[in-house]
Formats: sequence, structure tokens, C-alpha cells
Amino acid sequence: MINRVMRRSGVLAVLLSCWLLAANSYAMEVHNVRVWIAPDHARLVFDLSGAVQHKLFTLKKPDRIVLDLSGAKLLSDLAAVDLSKSPISIMRSGSRNSGKDLRIVLDLKEAVKPKSFALKPNDQYGHRLVLDLYRDVAEKAPQKTAIAVSNDPTTLRDIIIAIDAGHGGEDPGAIGPGRVKEKTVVLGIARELKALLEKERGFKPKLTRDGDYYISLRSRTQRARKMNADMFVSIHADGFKDKRAKGASVWVLSPRGASSEMGRWLAQKENSADLIGGVGSVSLEDKDDVLAKVLLDMSMTASRSDSRQIAHSIHRNLGRFAKMHKKQVEQAGFVVLKSPDIPSILVETGFITNHDEAAKLKSKSYQRKMAKAIFTGIKAHFSAKPPALTWLAWQKEGRGSSKSIPSRYKVMRGDTLSVIASRNGVSLTALRKVNGLRNADHIQIGQVLKIPAS
Ligand SMILES: [Zn+2]
Repeated sequence: MINRVMRRSGVLAVLLSCWLLAANSYAMEVHNVRVWIAPDHARLVFDLSGAVQHKLFTLKKPDRIVLDLSGAKLLSDLAAVDLSKSPISIMRSGSRNSGKDLRIVLDLKEAVKPKSFALKPNDQYGHRLVLDLYRDVAEKAPQKTAIAVSNDPTTLRDIIIAIDAGHGGEDPGAIGPGRVKEKTVVLGIARELKALLEKERGFKPKLTRDGDYYISLRSRTQRARKMNADMFVSIHADGFKDKRAKGASVWVLSPRGASSEMGRWLAQKENSADLIGGVGSVSLEDKDDVLAKVLLDMSMTASRSDSRQIAHSIHRNLGRFAKMHKKQVEQAGFVVLKSPDIPSILVETGFITNHDEAAKLKSKSYQRKMAKAIFTGIKAHFSAKPPALTWLAWQKEGRGSSKSIPSRYKVMRGDTLSVIASRNGVSLTALRKVNGLRNADHIQIGQVLKIPAS
């Protein structure tokens, strides 16, 4: 066709071929669509041949979402995308602007809040457009930890362990021989660890993710806080260019950043996961950097000392069967370890890029072994140092001796709160707290006060 035009008019031919070239080079292709289902949202990822301008809007009655992509065409079969667990009933496409632009319409089963953003290429994928559909669920307020105030061991609280399987969804983590993915291996280990802790009296394990979807690094620690976690353990597997690198390692937060060259490299790699999830550069949580620093400093004291003890305990247990990368617990500035008030550790269970370790990490039996070692380390630490008012503390103190369990006192004439406090060897603050007395110290004769364990 161009040849025939050329014969008629050279100028037209040049113009036309320029236009065709332009049209070709700007025609972006949508060549694949993936769906990830998380409990609170669905993520649609459109694989593109290049960066594309897009517009997102919603339509009511019935609820629809419209995505317009300029200068794009669809090469993927939308009907083949599995939408069964998503809030979308049908996804269809059409063209706009005389076929120049692509329109994708999502018919919805329920109202959702959509959010879209573009992602630049990484080692795994090329240009992508992400569409998150947030389910309209009211977020539950964090439950206040109940203070056990009776001699009844059934009211004593369990030690809550937040288990964090790294990566997920669009972020596969490190990839080993035979395309074995870190996100899959670590979820396997996390679930094994949960099962072990569930069987152990006095512990209550909770997973930050229990499926193949992405959670940002910040929301992993937020989830742990909502759980009222006593401890946070993040599970990962390493990757390195040099396939000979091997060994498991246990990490705690370092205040001065990474403690070694390897540590810095790892910290950078783990932290960059947020960029893959598309929230790193626009994270609202990152706005208060000063506050974050202050909080971080505070965490250095109590929380870090506990973190180190748990990490040592796990390191020792892992060392019984696994090759360890270093003889001691390592330190780095991983974002997930930055909870100011929750002892947090990160376990790299081995190098998935190493042939031998990948083969082990893939197997259910090795995953179980790994989980058992982490479990034993956690249990040993909390048995030696149980948090107050937990079932484990009650066990340690000799099952309901008056020392560990709050007792009661009937107020008599002439008593004041401070006298009762000093007579029972407890602080006035603790006495007020356990009895729910705020500012005023009103007590009445005959009133029964709870006396906390000293
Ligand atoms: Zn990782």
C-alpha cells in the first residue's frame, strides 16, 4: 500500500510513512492481565509493552469501573482471566477515538474503591498498570489487650506471634533454579510455624498474609500492631548473583544501618520490595520521618534487647541442622524490623539461588524442619521470659501462686489508695491501672480492689 502511494506523490508517501511509524511506535500493547486476591482488595495487573497514559473513572447503576488507555490495543483474552474470587463479574473491552484508544470496563459485584498506578519494569516484569480494588470493609479498631485480673488461668492471655511471610503476589522475591519462588517457600514455612504454635498452649500465632498477594512493608508492621503482637518474625529466603552463596541467617534491626556489605545489600533488596508494590514513593506513612526516627530510637532499648535474645535463640536452633551464613545474629535496617514496640526479627532461611539449598527449601519436610527450629527458638525465649499476665508467666511462677496472679483487697475505713499500694508492694500507677481508676482516687469502704502481681 505504501508503495502505490509513493508512486502518486512522494510528499504524501513521506508523510504517510511518518504517520504509520508514529502510530506503530505509540501503539502500546496490553499483552497479559493478572489478578491477585487479598482479603481486603483485589489487584489487577496489566502487562504493557511500554509506558501508557491512562484514565480511571467509575460509573453507577450498575457499578462499573472504566479504564481508558491512550494509544493502546489489547492482545490478551479478557474472558480467560479468572475473576471468580474478585469483586468483578465481567471484564470487557472496546475501543475509542476511532480505534486509537483502548477502553476496559469492569462490571462489579460489589462497590469498591479503585486506585491505579503505573509500575516501571523490574527484573521480573516490564511496564505495568496496576488497578487495586479495595473492598468497602470498615477497618476493625485494634482490640485492647485484656488485663487478666483473676486467679483463673483461662482468662490469662496468650502470647501473640505475628508471622510474616515475605513478598507475595506481584513481588515473587528471590527466584531459584526451576523458577522456585521465595514468596511460595516462605509462605509454606510460615504456615508450618503457625501450625506448631497453634498446638502449643500459651501461644497464639497470626499470619500477616495467608495467600499469594502483596502487602507493603509498612502495613506488615501495622498488621502486627493491630494483632497486639508480642513478637514479629518475618520469613525470607535469600538470593544472590553468585550461586555459591549459601546459609541461613537471623537478623535484627541495626540502628546504624547495615553492619556489613552483605547486610547493606540485603537491606536494600528487601526494602525495594515496596517499590515493586507501588507504594514506596507515595507512602503516607513515610511523611513523618522525624517522628519515625524518634520512635526508632525508643525501640532501640527494650525492644532490641528482646529481639536479640529471640534471634540468638532461633540462630542456635537453626545451627543444629542448617548451614549458617554467619556465626552470629546479623543486623540490618530492614523496614519490617522497625516496629518501635514489638521485638522483631527476620529469618533468611537459606539461599534460594543456591542449587542445594533451593532443593531443600522446596521440600515440605525441610520447610517443617525450618519452622520447628524457629518455633523452638521462640518457645525457649518466652518460656524463660514470659510477658506479664500471660498463661506462660502463670506457669513459670508456679501456677497461681499469689506472687504472679492479682489478688483482691476489701477497702477498710481509713484506707487510701497509696497506703494500699505500699502495703502490697505495688506501685500506685499499677494499682490504678488494674482497677481502671483514672485520675480521681475515689475508693469506698467495702469496695473490692484488685491487687496486681508485684
Ligand atoms: Zn525476601
